[in-house]
Amino acid sequence: MIIWICTDMEGLAGIDRWEQCYDPDDDSPAYLYGREQLTAEVNAAVAGCFDAGATEVRVLDGHGRNRNRGFVEDRLDPRVTRVFVESYPPTRWEGLNAEVTGLAMIGQHAMAGTLNGFIDHTQQPKEICRYLINGQEAGEMSQMAVYAAFYGVPLLYVSGDEALCEEARRLFPQALSTPTKRGTGWLSCDLYPPERVRENIRRDIAAAIRRTDRPAPVKLEPPIEIAVEWAWSEPADRMAKVEGVRRLHARTVSWTIYDPRDVFTWPNAHWSPPKGDHP
Ligand SMILES: [Zn+2]
Repeated sequence: MIIWICTDMEGLAGIDRWEQCYDPDDDSPAYLYGREQLTAEVNAAVAGCFDAGATEVRVLDGHGRNRNRGFVEDRLDPRVTRVFVESYPPTRWEGLNAEVTGLAMIGQHAMAGTLNGFIDHTQQPKEICRYLINGQEAGEMSQMAVYAAFYGVPLLYVSGDEALCEEARRLFPQALSTPTKRGTGWLSCDLYPPERVRENIRRDIAAAIRRTDRPAPVKLEPPIEIAVEWAWSEPADRMAKVEGVRRLHARTVSWTIYDPRDVFTWPNAHWSPPKGDHP
């Protein structure tokens, strides 16, 4: 039984500052502290997966700023199978395929525009106001779930702040979640005790895997409409130049995908939305 985990940092238990996730200096104490929190929390999740009978746990360092070097390597559970971007563009994730039993997300944050979501965003903090899939507001949890469902893989479990857990209950009511903290504003939160949270994560992810009534994957039938509202017009000006991209509004563009996995691939000079087989 293979579990595939995508990690992020904003929703980790010990994280309550921007610099812990984003300090550009690799050696900054705040960022190193953030990496330690990430590693400890991944280890708790991985332990829970093996407790529940997983035979392999594949882990993607999904926080862009980390450039795949977020884990403190010598403290990461050696049973982890590291996975990476397999190809780009279009973006394909290594090892997320029909062999996988379930998807989990650790340290995840709520979608852009969530009240009291700690560093809530979708893809690019401060630059994207809203991201929609078939007209419904969505965040990174939904994107990953859409991608995984292509292979029949369901979203089983997420951990993150209370706002993320609320988003999970609303959009993926059958997935289990563990709250790590309560956001009180975009850059403020009340942390829950990290050690206690990690115990909960280990217990809850194991419960999500052990369930006999695991949720079904939420498959979307193509064509799928993607829309992005930027914070200002300039990125929309740029994207609207790509063939297949429609301009809905000064700040808003949309396009159609026919392969759910393309949910992670953004129109640019190297990739334009495929024309697809639907008129
Ligand atoms: Zn992140």
